[in-house]
Amino acid sequence: MVGVWGLPGAANAVYLALYAQQHRGQESAGIAVTDGDDIDSKLGMGLVPDVFSPDDLQRLSLYGTRGAIGHNRYSTSGGSLACNTQPLVEQTVDGSVALAHNGNLVNGEAHRRKFAEAGHLFHTTSDTEVVIHLLASPEQRNAPDPLAATLRRLQGAFSLVLMFPDRIEAARDPWGWRPLVLGELEREGKAFPVVASETVALDVMGAKYVREVEPGEIVTLTDEGVSSRRYADPSDPLAQCIFEHVYFASPASMVFGQNVQTAREQMGEALAREAPVVADWVMPMPDSGRSAANGYAHESGIPYREAIVPNRYVGRTFIKPTQHEREAAVRLKLNVVREIVDGKKLVVVDDSIVRGTTTKLKMNQLREAGAREIHLRISSPPIRHPCYFGVDFASKDQLIANNRSVEEIREFLGVDSLHFLSLKGLLSVAKGNARDYCTGCFSGDYRVDVEHPLTEDVLLREQASMF
Ligand code: AMP
Repeated sequence: MVGVWGLPGAANAVYLALYAQQHRGQESAGIAVTDGDDIDSKLGMGLVPDVFSPDDLQRLSLYGTRGAIGHNRYSTSGGSLACNTQPLVEQTVDGSVALAHNGNLVNGEAHRRKFAEAGHLFHTTSDTEVVIHLLASPEQRNAPDPLAATLRRLQGAFSLVLMFPDRIEAARDPWGWRPLVLGELEREGKAFPVVASETVALDVMGAKYVREVEPGEIVTLTDEGVSSRRYADPSDPLAQCIFEHVYFASPASMVFGQNVQTAREQMGEALAREAPVVADWVMPMPDSGRSAANGYAHESGIPYREAIVPNRYVGRTFIKPTQHEREAAVRLKLNVVREIVDGKKLVVVDDSIVRGTTTKLKMNQLREAGAREIHLRISSPPIRHPCYFGVDFASKDQLIANNRSVEEIREFLGVDSLHFLSLKGLLSVAKGNARDYCTGCFSGDYRVDVEHPLTEDVLLREQASMF
């Protein structure tokens, strides 16, 4: 997600930022722009360079003289459908609005049902659309701060970027599940405010990092600069997604105030201390295991060697919607260097195991290339629970670690030994207080009640119950 205000031709900067954040979603992409009166957009399925033609970009940058926002989608709620591409652009009684959402609402479905029963029509199948319906409803419109009133009724993970013809508003949920940062872009002596999911997008746009948007905060980007207000107190503790550090975010980004690459290296070091082994090489599963493998090699003193060569033109396979597609893509994606692997004892490092299917295929390829021993080391704990907050882990029964012991997983994967980094080891690496991270996928501790979503003023009820 990204938003740029005030910069003529902002669509070009937004395009670069979406490219830089392609790892956050590869199913679809969109850019919405405003000329100060109305909003135009271009949305499409596929990767950023495939969605926007040079003509599209030219049109968007000519029309979007005031501001632009953009989104890369990775479906967690609602299918991989063209109708779910964001930013959603809608007309309300107060005018046009474009909305981009990162995360997943726990009470989206409950809100939707209420609206649908009252006769509202929806044109997407995603949870995000209810945000606009809430914003456009009399109850919120008559509130002193309609956006704040809307956000207080949302439960779950939401970093949001909304664009109106006269401003961009960016907000983060009180739990701080997903990242969102504020930056400043300087062009010809003038400063333009920007927001993005990750700092890597700021780097690519040539913007400087200012600060994180805080949990429970709304920042407004206008011609006058940036202003801030709170719609809720930050939750105590927070629920920052630890999986951003494990897998999701770019190694080049600062997430929750910590560089992702160095965090992953430290996870690898912790893993080497927890599960040492005698081996010839430490070998990463590219690209996801690289940083942790470096850390493991550094801590253990075993030489780091790459022998699994990725075909860089194949995208992230997990994100392809069907199992068949995923398997075909794995075979296409990785080639093993027999000369390095044959007859050797390997420590193979990856960041996580979800369904186990990709990992099993990769292990088979190593065996076929003659690996004598494979010691698999994973720089996060077993994923035993689904994520309701924006990471696509599929359903519980598809998770390999659900109802299986580590020994059973080892057997399934056909490796000589298997060790997952402990939750304690993982949290020891994370910056700040360990209780401020959501570990729901590992621990089942979800912080909000995922079974009984609320549709009333969620935050007031939750905060009242704290006293
Ligand atoms: P599998 O063996 O099928 O569970 O796949 C494991 C691989 O998927 C690891 O290399 C991870 O880096 C990667 N992975 C983990 N979580 C996700 C996710 N939510 N989306 C896409 N890929 C993921």
